[in-house]
Amino acid sequence: MTKTVQKTCHIVVTGLVQGVGFRPFVYRLAQRFMLTGRVENTNENVQIDITGDTLNIELFLQSLKSEAPPASRIEAIMVTESAFEKFADFSIRHSRNVSDEITEISPDIAVCSECMEDIAKAGTRFNYPFVNCTHCGPRFTIIQDLPYDREKTTMRSFKMCGSCNREYQTITDRRFHAQPTACEVCGPRYELIARNQEPIFDTVVILRRLALLLEKGGVVLMKGLGGMHIACDAFNVQATEKLRHLKKRDAKPFAVMFRDIGSLQQHVMIDETEKASLLSPRRPIVLLQVKPASEAKFAKNINSGLNLLGVLLPYMPFHYQLFQHLKTEAIVLTSGNFSSEPILIDNQEAVLKFSDYADAILLHNRDIFNRSDDSVVRISAGKERVFRRSRGYVPTPLHIGLNTDGILGFGAELTNCFCLGKGNKAILSQHIGDLQGVETTLFYEQTMAQFLKLFRVKPALLAVDMHPNYISTRTAEHFSGIPVVQVQHHHAHVAACMAEHNLDEKVIGVAFDGTGYGDDGNTWGSEFFVCDLNDYERVTHFDYIGMPGGDSASEEPWRMAVAWLYRVYGPTFKELPLSLFSEIEPGSIEVIIRMIDRQINTPLTCGAGRLFDAVSSIMGLCHKSTFQAEAPMRLESMVTENCSEPYPFEQKQTLFFDVTIKAIVDDLTRGVDLKIIASKFHNTIISVIFEAVNKIRQRNGICKVVLSGGVFQNKYLLEGTIIRLRENNFEVYAHVAVPSNDGGIALGQTAVAAKRRSLKCV
Ligand code: ZN
Ligand code: ZN
Ligand code: FE
Repeated sequence: MTKTVQKTCHIVVTGLVQGVGFRPFVYRLAQRFMLTGRVENTNENVQIDITGDTLNIELFLQSLKSEAPPASRIEAIMVTESAFEKFADFSIRHSRNVSDEITEISPDIAVCSECMEDIAKAGTRFNYPFVNCTHCGPRFTIIQDLPYDREKTTMRSFKMCGSCNREYQTITDRRFHAQPTACEVCGPRYELIARNQEPIFDTVVILRRLALLLEKGGVVLMKGLGGMHIACDAFNVQATEKLRHLKKRDAKPFAVMFRDIGSLQQHVMIDETEKASLLSPRRPIVLLQVKPASEAKFAKNINSGLNLLGVLLPYMPFHYQLFQHLKTEAIVLTSGNFSSEPILIDNQEAVLKFSDYADAILLHNRDIFNRSDDSVVRISAGKERVFRRSRGYVPTPLHIGLNTDGILGFGAELTNCFCLGKGNKAILSQHIGDLQGVETTLFYEQTMAQFLKLFRVKPALLAVDMHPNYISTRTAEHFSGIPVVQVQHHHAHVAACMAEHNLDEKVIGVAFDGTGYGDDGNTWGSEFFVCDLNDYERVTHFDYIGMPGGDSASEEPWRMAVAWLYRVYGPTFKELPLSLFSEIEPGSIEVIIRMIDRQINTPLTCGAGRLFDAVSSIMGLCHKSTFQAEAPMRLESMVTENCSEPYPFEQKQTLFFDVTIKAIVDDLTRGVDLKIIASKFHNTIISVIFEAVNKIRQRNGICKVVLSGGVFQNKYLLEGTIIRLRENNFEVYAHVAVPSNDGGIALGQTAVAAKRRSLKCV
């Protein structure tokens, strides 16, 4: 037998390799390939020292990559040969702090199938709803500091029992170093507080009682993974009405959790990509189209009669258990808060705020440290597009190919997220929300402080929106003595999409949204830029029009309808046969006309969202919005695939839609089907984008087009634009992992600041 060559290697693994069962996996591999040595977590990476047969080390390295645990994500494996060292065995060493660098923090992971099997088996996890293992369970929501150890999570207050501890110490066990591991004996528990009754602690009794309450039309507040939910039977009209009433000023469509993929498929249309998103361990809310036959079955007020419904599947053990006791196939699961406030996480606050409203309150005693809403995605052009990036996605960093270290992007005003630069990574915060309520602003400031501490970032450069009155912009003023970069809103949109795709060159940027502060003082939102990450040239945009009442026009689309009709037809527009005139007070319309004539509180806008608003109201689909983007959503929901015809428009220095509005009114007058009109309007916008972009290519020779802004959440528009541009040999980039809406702004700000710093412009 030939003697094989022995050597020692030092291996460094970076990426998402902590809290995902990576060390036990390394241990098992070392056993398999008869290697000795050690593995350890540092706050920087996972480090391995191994000694053994050269060939076996090769095989070990291959398997390290190809067999890595499902929840992990390896970024790099660096191998160096070191001085030969003899080890007695292979061991796992304790975590240690090395420097200010950090490994990634895992997002929360839906309960795995093995854990679901465990709760069906006799033992201390039988029916136990907090079961988890290294492949699943809470992560980001319970982590208070790094490195990831139980002592630095909200599980610290639970002392592991002997049996859990044995598993935790046993390298071959699925719960080896599973930080949140727990069982009936030692772990957290639920508590049900029903009206006028003693609290219940027994899981099975809780499940029965809760199921009964929901079946009878009750509305229940339930503590989940990243915050509280309010739940009720999705098919029960009285229950959903009660829920609507409870959330008063909030008319946003509710998300619906289905029992399983089978029951879901009976009610909504779903393709393979959508199915993959629904079943992924991230378990987002997926926006799907309701089957026509099911539209009547759901309580109408769930999604305000839209044909789009946000659906999701169970992700906590308790969700599965609840459905085992429920007859209904679907429950509404909407964020537990009053409108404009962040999702509740605190037990006492929940009792204080909801005792009078909810039929029961379900709490548990595992504290939530990092509040996270359910994430929302939609599949467009065959890809999952994240609209709300939170539970299951955050805090996965983005690699944007620039040095972002110490940059803090403050984000926009509505749908806020902020962004932290660390090394060459950008870490977007979870969805914060609309920075208008005091509570949300507090959440924003607290989360920012937590992120700075958790990721060990010292802010060196601040990036803010140009809007002087954004709360985010003003928050930056608290950080005195640190240089500030101002980034134009739509440049930030395009930069966010560029950063996501690692583009650092001149591109054609198209940013369509509702509103953003322009550097001429007007409200922008239909921008065609030639830009790079540093700067932009605004080539063209929709022609300006007065927005009577300023921001209130975005809540009352009829105001934009009046502005457009008055512009196109003059004072006689009131004689047109449109539903607008029977539904809106003539007096109110007169006021708007006077505001336009005298230019009182009528700032100029070119926001694409406002044009969608106007058309939606002219068509009689939505005169007053009860939730954000309602008018464009109603317009999109009318579109039919069988119409490719556009309306005319005019391309001059800017883009004119006077002829478009006229053609729409003509079609309405002739009684053309609203579906056709909606489709023709969408086709017009696709043509507008193509024509404008094509003109820029003819002039500049640039063929990379970057699409961003909330308007591109419109599936028909995004898909149509991508197809049209690709047919004409453009390279098209749209958002995937980062929201196209203002939730992505902070990433764009961070990227622009990073670029300008590298060019020494700041
Ligand atoms: Zn598990
Ligand atoms: Zn235990
Ligand atoms: Fe925007």
